[in-house]
Amino acid sequence: VGDRFQHVVDVEATAAEAPALAAGLTRWLVELGVIELAPAERALGGPGHPPGPEAARATGGAGAPASLHTNGVAVVSTRTVFDGGPDDGSARCPRCAEDVGWDVLGPAVDEWWAGGEGVRPCPGCGAPGPLNGWRWEPAWAFGCLGLTFWNWPPLSADFVREIGERLGHRCVSVHGGR
Ligand SMILES: [Zn+2]
Repeated sequence: VGDRFQHVVDVEATAAEAPALAAGLTRWLVELGVIELAPAERALGGPGHPPGPEAARATGGAGAPASLHTNGVAVVSTRTVFDGGPDDGSARCPRCAEDVGWDVLGPAVDEWWAGGEGVRPCPGCGAPGPLNGWRWEPAWAFGCLGLTFWNWPPLSADFVREIGERLGHRCVSVHGGR
């Protein structure tokens, strides 16, 4: 693994509202000084906003990201699987720990890509399983809005909570590497 990243994913925003929410979130992060306004070649697979003068605010004093080339923040506002790594995940039920197979997950993920909910009952206990409810390994989150911080020190829990409060939605954090 050469590059580490952390996604902060809004798991409630709809595809329709994501672009406007992403623009507002970006403006706010620029105002705080956490990121710079103009995206540059600072992320893998697309542009990223370089860290701003107050980048350490996001890391709870753990410092600013190292001055690597890949240290930007990508803003994503389309339907995306925010995965923790390149490999396919496996999922367990949070209630009964049943290993949920891809015979169940595959069609659910396809349905979600097509704009549906992708909810399936757990094969073990029958509890309704939304895609973001399974325990994924490595961690995965399904959403239409997210930020990917490349090679930043771990974001503080307070900062992640602040993003969720600003959006008015539940946000989850996914760590991974490429
Ligand atoms: Zn179960």
